[in-house]
Amino acid sequence: SAQELRSTLEGLDGAPYARYRSLTGRAWPLLEGVRATLRHAQADPFAPPSRWEVRLATPFAGLDLAAPVRRRALASFLARAAAAPDGPFRIDAGGQEVLQRSSFEIDVDGSAVLRLGYHLPGPRRRIDGRAAAADLTRALPDLVREHVLGADPDRARAFVDAVEDADHLRRSLPGLGLVAFVADGAVLPRASGVDDRPARGAVPFASPGSLRVEVDLPHRGRTRGMGVPTGVTVVVGGGFHGKSTLLRALEAGVHDHVPGDGRELVVTVADGAAIRAEDGRAVTRVDVGAFVTGLPGGLDPRDLTTADASGSTSQAAATVEALEAGSRLLLIDEDTAATNLMVRDARMQELVAKTSEPLNPFVDLVRSLAEDHAVSTVLVVGASGDYLDVADRVLLMDSYRCSDVTARAREVAARPTGRVAEAGRFPPVRARLPDPRSVDASARGKRRVSAVGTGTLRFGEHDVDVHAVRQFTDPGQVTGAGLALDHAVRAGHLDGRRSLPEVLDRLEADLAGPVEGWTGGSPADVAVPRRHEVAAALDRLRALRVLALTEPPAR
Ligand code: ADP
Ligand code: MG
Repeated sequence: SAQELRSTLEGLDGAPYARYRSLTGRAWPLLEGVRATLRHAQADPFAPPSRWEVRLATPFAGLDLAAPVRRRALASFLARAAAAPDGPFRIDAGGQEVLQRSSFEIDVDGSAVLRLGYHLPGPRRRIDGRAAAADLTRALPDLVREHVLGADPDRARAFVDAVEDADHLRRSLPGLGLVAFVADGAVLPRASGVDDRPARGAVPFASPGSLRVEVDLPHRGRTRGMGVPTGVTVVVGGGFHGKSTLLRALEAGVHDHVPGDGRELVVTVADGAAIRAEDGRAVTRVDVGAFVTGLPGGLDPRDLTTADASGSTSQAAATVEALEAGSRLLLIDEDTAATNLMVRDARMQELVAKTSEPLNPFVDLVRSLAEDHAVSTVLVVGASGDYLDVADRVLLMDSYRCSDVTARAREVAARPTGRVAEAGRFPPVRARLPDPRSVDASARGKRRVSAVGTGTLRFGEHDVDVHAVRQFTDPGQVTGAGLALDHAVRAGHLDGRRSLPEVLDRLEADLAGPVEGWTGGSPADVAVPRRHEVAAALDRLRALRVLALTEPPAR
């Protein structure tokens, strides 16, 4: 049934390479009910691969696809199935996270689209019609028949159910008064710093009795684990005992993970934000007045702009930016935090007068964030006992085992150190009004948005350094954040009158729909980012201009 495409390709054999373009736009039958469309033909054999779209009906008619999370999960499962075999097609299945991606999307009626890259063969810039026909009219229909339509229905159902359980668990957290949940038996460490699969032979997670929670999940049923309540949670323990690993797992818990990952039921509220120091980054008109009371050279901390932030000011800015974007959970690891923003102990208070120290340490602000702003914090601080004074609970990691040492910490904290608190309440965060003219994805008359790994977003003429934005999971999500920003401008959400939180509200609604609705026909592989990563990319755009600071909208 792929006869039409085959004879067309064979007819083009030997023609100039650019004639491949004549294939675009039409829906070529591949199989019964399956059609392929060339959406973007590469200009020459060395350009990025051509983009094909294959439309089909999802298999597994019995599978309930009413909930968006189930469609996202099935799409992820099928993209992985299609990407598994070796072959000439490039299918972006992503990593351990189950994200909505442009490579595979499923509609509520069960219609689906698979988007893949394929290098159209063209030795000496002539069309190789026979080779193209072999790939597109034989290998591609085989791939779809065997690996997508023929995927194992039991594994598909198990995958979809597991993801729905995680999503359900995450949505239940606020009602349970929790910001995170770590299931008993979860495997937190990863194979290596460059391999996100589970480590072998790891000590499985076991919840301390005092924080043990049982939840009922729609498919798995009763599930036990540690519930991390709202408020201030401090993780202590000796070096190499698994503190950072726990925090990393919580950072990753804003996303769902594939079955077998070990973190399937390690979930964090969807707006959790990893905060770190990032010296050298740009900061554009951020009110860091809560953290900084004065700056040398007449800089106004209530309206701070710098092209080269210090460790402490960058972390202060990242905190305020996360709150501005709507996060209610901050995740901080001492390994990547600025010490002088985190603590100032009794002896240093004695030696250096407060009048010569412009920084208000986080230890004096974290309670106000929890009490006045309902912003919780989970932080790893093995090195500073001053946090015992402000913690609602203290977790100890010891040989990868987690215990609740809050009572003991209270005893220790009862003996005064002579330290005095240095800050009052955390003021309401003022929101920024970004200038749309400064958010420009065009370069030499063309739109240019792409990612280099997960560390750099190419946005128009600008390279945005996002290596410190830890919750970017893969390059597709970095590209997605760039395309989302561009969409926010072109759709008029970011219009110079709306504050950033209002822009993100509108953008978020669009991001929940089909990828095509906001990627503007980009042939790139895209994964849908959270609003927080979109904001994090904008925050690091050095060209960003902000027209004004406004009071935040009532939420
Ligand atoms: P810390 O932050 O307390 O210094 P890390 O979280 O960096 O410790 O962990 C130290 C090492 O132990 C890492 O190599 C990590 O992969 C490993 N590790 C962490 N948790 C476990 C576990 N549950 N089982 C086995 N190894 C683990
Ligand atoms: Mg550590």
